[in-house]
Amino acid sequence: MQTASTIDALRSQVAKLRGSDGATIGLVPTMGALHEGHLTLVRRAREACDHVVTSIFVNPTQFGPGEDLDAYPRQLEADAAMLEAEGCALIWAPDVAAMYPPGFVSNISVSGVSEGFCAADRPGHFDGVATVVCKLFHQVLPDMAFFGEKDFQQLAVIRAMARDLDLTRPHVLSIIGVPTVREADGLAMSSRNRYLSAENRTAAGTLPRAMKNAIVAIERGGDVGSALSALESDLIKAGFDSVDYATLADSASLAPITALSGASARLLVAARIGGTRLIDNMAVDTA
Ligand code: AMP
Repeated sequence: MQTASTIDALRSQVAKLRGSDGATIGLVPTMGALHEGHLTLVRRAREACDHVVTSIFVNPTQFGPGEDLDAYPRQLEADAAMLEAEGCALIWAPDVAAMYPPGFVSNISVSGVSEGFCAADRPGHFDGVATVVCKLFHQVLPDMAFFGEKDFQQLAVIRAMARDLDLTRPHVLSIIGVPTVREADGLAMSSRNRYLSAENRTAAGTLPRAMKNAIVAIERGGDVGSALSALESDLIKAGFDSVDYATLADSASLAPITALSGASARLLVAARIGGTRLIDNMAVDTA
């Protein structure tokens, strides 16, 4: 496994991987501090492509003022060992100056799916995500790129950006969404779970349980508003400090819905505990 930290090194390593027979390349964009969720994306990429490139870049433009940019865990050596064991061919680990050289002035802003939910509390976050992911696509030129459904709004933003910038139509690359990988108690794996105290980590297991309860109630025909209120109060009772949102939405447009209509629906939640913001989402059966 190689590690590239400059664009020139990346391009030459990717060209070697492609070879003369045009081997396929799968890209797994990450911010490092890898866990089973990330490694599952790498495994999916390995199954689907000849070679896997994993990017590790803590992207400053997707962090807002007062967020955890400086505290965000950085552990390139440990990440590299995990990626090597998974058969990743190349790590793309640029520093901030390589990604955003002096004079960098461009920005990709996706409207619609970028609005509401996480954007309400993190203004500019999805511009940062769309711009860096677009750059990663052009830097690596993969055939497929793999993203977790854990960040459901992010996946919707990336799909919209790739579609609108003609990366998927006519076909240049495929965007693959991978189901959320969870801890034994159901908590979605996240690099930020390590911020939780032991007590808050136990309480955090309430999040997926309360979401499942709300989904069962909604699927049985219960009132959506009441189910979401019950979810919020379950979280506060369990020790969460606040709930940023608990919303039922159309899975494709992310438009909030107040009743099941037959279109695919998703429950999305963001809540804070002990200074850590946790997000999760689950499918709701509309049949
Ligand atoms: P991050 O390093 O948090 O930016 O995440 C990098 C990629 O891993 C994103 O596509 C995430 O959606 C995905 N990811 C993070 N956590 C999980 C998880 N628990 N299950 C599946 N994918 C995940």
